[in-house]
Amino acid sequence: MTDNDKLKALKLLAKRYARATGQAQHVALDFVATRLGFPHWNALTGSAKGEWAPSEAQVAAIKAIVDKIPSYEGATFDHVFGGPDVITRGEVQGYSYELKTMLGDVCMNGHGWRILLRENPLAAPQVEIDLPHAQNSPMNDRELLAEAVGIAKELMQSVKARRFADWPRRATKPDAEGKVRHPFLDMAESNLWYCLHCNTEITGPQIATHQWHCPGCGASPLNIFPDAFWLKPNEEKPVPVQTRAEGQEIEPVISIVDPRPRLDLNKDKVTHLIRTALFEDATNASERLGASLAEIWVDDDLDVVVSFETHYWPEDKEPSTAVEVAALLGIEIEQEVVWSDPLFAWPGLGTTTQSTVEYTCLMLDAYRSHGATGDEDGS
Ligand SMILES: [Zn+2]
Repeated sequence: MTDNDKLKALKLLAKRYARATGQAQHVALDFVATRLGFPHWNALTGSAKGEWAPSEAQVAAIKAIVDKIPSYEGATFDHVFGGPDVITRGEVQGYSYELKTMLGDVCMNGHGWRILLRENPLAAPQVEIDLPHAQNSPMNDRELLAEAVGIAKELMQSVKARRFADWPRRATKPDAEGKVRHPFLDMAESNLWYCLHCNTEITGPQIATHQWHCPGCGASPLNIFPDAFWLKPNEEKPVPVQTRAEGQEIEPVISIVDPRPRLDLNKDKVTHLIRTALFEDATNASERLGASLAEIWVDDDLDVVVSFETHYWPEDKEPSTAVEVAALLGIEIEQEVVWSDPLFAWPGLGTTTQSTVEYTCLMLDAYRSHGATGDEDGS
């Protein structure tokens, strides 16, 4: 494998891991990066542009981890109740509210306030009050707030009752030895479980009490496994998780929020904007491929380096829209040129047309008349 292939392999493994564990891809990429000793994925790719490259052994180690994670696809996995349209309306001390459940969480909305209860039983109720209502929100009344949280908790109870009805009994009721079964992944019963996120060791009764959320970090049931297969023998042993004292009430966390949208520029948003600009700068099918192939690298100051592939983006072509967009955002943009194998032979064909359909016809024709056909390969 070339270094580039190894990076691609890591990325693919992260994708598989994301699918198997029902997590966002960036979470999975960061997970792979931390397993290889980087704080996050961008740090890994940053190093890969310099001296560092993943070794075959490292790729194999990540693959071994991903291979051991059973996919929840096809499992009796019922995470979603309710939806945006299933709303209960009511009043608490004369203040009207809307109550709904989404992905296991319960949300209560009032005028200028909302209460969020997470599926994780350890998460504190989150109360948000919009800034203009900060002084006179009904949520400032402790008694009223407690009553509202109580109403939301009642709905949470029934959501959970419905969920637990589908779980195997052994998921919530440990046997005499403290053994429990994972609620929806096909894994052996065990009296010790491990959190993929924080590496802690959790007893069967603990994980059952916490409804299969990690008592340490709150990770979802999909992150809980009967052995810590991701830890190498020489790595630190998992330590028993610390749990809060039983019966300890979790106080709501109240925050005043500014409901106006706030522009929070980050690497991802900058990348999308710059790429959109590159598509606008592309004047034919070939350059559009170039815009799509260009690697856009954003550093911590959000300054941008764009690596253009020479086959598809002419070396002397100025990405003027991208430059203009960067100027509006107040960030630097640098260009560099890289050479790699073209996606298709005769990359120049795309310069003669605006139309992707026409380019595809030209490209297929060219392969038919000047390329090797599939039959010749096999004989
Ligand atoms: Zn954890």
